[in-house]
Amino acid sequence: MDASSSKKSNMSYFDYEKRQLALKRAEELKQRISDYLEKSQTIPTGFKLESEYQQRKRRILEYFGATEKDWLDWHWQMRNRISSVKRLRELIPLTDEEAGQIELVSKKYRWAVSPYYLSLMDPGNPECPVRMQGLPSILELQDNWGKEDPMGEEFTSPAPRVTRRYADRLIINVTNQCAMFCRHCQRRRNIGEVDKPAPVEEIMAAIDYVRRNTEIRDVLITGGDPLTLSDDWLDWILTELDSIEHVEIKRIGSRIPVTMPQRITQELCDMLERHHPLYLNTHFNHPKEVTYEALRATRMLAKAGIQLGNQAVLLKGINNDVHVMKKLNHELLKIHVKPYYIFHAKPVKGTTHFVPAIQEGLDIMENLRGHTSGLAIPQYIINAPGGAGKTPLLPQYLLSMGKDHVMIRTWEGKVFRCPNYAV
Ligand SMILES: *Cc1c(COP(=O)(O)O)cnc(C)c1O
Repeated sequence: MDASSSKKSNMSYFDYEKRQLALKRAEELKQRISDYLEKSQTIPTGFKLESEYQQRKRRILEYFGATEKDWLDWHWQMRNRISSVKRLRELIPLTDEEAGQIELVSKKYRWAVSPYYLSLMDPGNPECPVRMQGLPSILELQDNWGKEDPMGEEFTSPAPRVTRRYADRLIINVTNQCAMFCRHCQRRRNIGEVDKPAPVEEIMAAIDYVRRNTEIRDVLITGGDPLTLSDDWLDWILTELDSIEHVEIKRIGSRIPVTMPQRITQELCDMLERHHPLYLNTHFNHPKEVTYEALRATRMLAKAGIQLGNQAVLLKGINNDVHVMKKLNHELLKIHVKPYYIFHAKPVKGTTHFVPAIQEGLDIMENLRGHTSGLAIPQYIINAPGGAGKTPLLPQYLLSMGKDHVMIRTWEGKVFRCPNYAV
């Protein structure tokens, strides 16, 4: 027998009343989530689209005359990145206008997508969120307010390859190479014409800076994408950092689990496992990117003991929707990735058509807290101009602060007075 249908005779009157209240509250809670449940059905996810992805993969393999084994080889993925309109047209239908626009943009900004990332694109839909991140848009050339380096990275570099904005941690930029060139990339200016790792002397100078500055306890290895480097190169950099006593933790920033998960091999994981404590933050922006192939990669990393976080960027037309963002965070938790940040897009030249209103980010946060697991809630961050620091933004929950009480409002908008006594 269902507990809720317990007969009055089996319960005391007060227990019965309590149960009735709880049942009423449960009904109210069901109402709160019904909107999301309905919308959620219509949001495409990588898991739901698996058979479509497989079909497209087979078509791409056929086109290249390649095998499943090639597909799983990241060097094959890297070598066969699609970066010309001619090739692209042979793989997805484009109108002459679209092809002409991509050609025009390529003269100013380069582009490339891995065959894997291409297989996630809806070929018939220019508004596909995967496609919008991978293929150039004419809007990139019509940007009249973006800046090359709004974060002033060029002014916060005390040593080669180092960006330092905080007292106890810094970034080392180890390569300008990526598996794909995201259309919203904040470091566009560094994505040169030649893909190459930083010269060894520069990385040594960066590591030396860390060694000489004993307050640095957290080193972020970023790029470009550090996982485009060979296992040996990464092993060497991590070993050097391990030899510095004051470096307590290391982090890798990489989009490879999203754009080329084939890079995550057992050999890579075995190597990374020798460098704990090690964290990896990646960059999923849409539930369509959370695929079985991505899961294979993130599970291997998780098994190697690497804690995974996600740094999404809030992008107009891609994920600036309360339901899509909630779904993304749910899908991430299913693949061992903890939502860490949602960044407000920076005004980088050539990308400002993606910049949404800050209110949209606040609405997303409002629709997370209380509405879903705390684990699924990242922080919403805006970067202060000139690299002055990441700054969290939240809807207002503290309504007023009195001498002996505060007024708060809850996730449902109920207002309460709470005592604020310092004993
Ligand atoms: C983002 C960033 C970090 C890391 O910031 P956390 O908030 O600790 O994740 C460190 N250094 C620089 C220069 C950064 O931009």
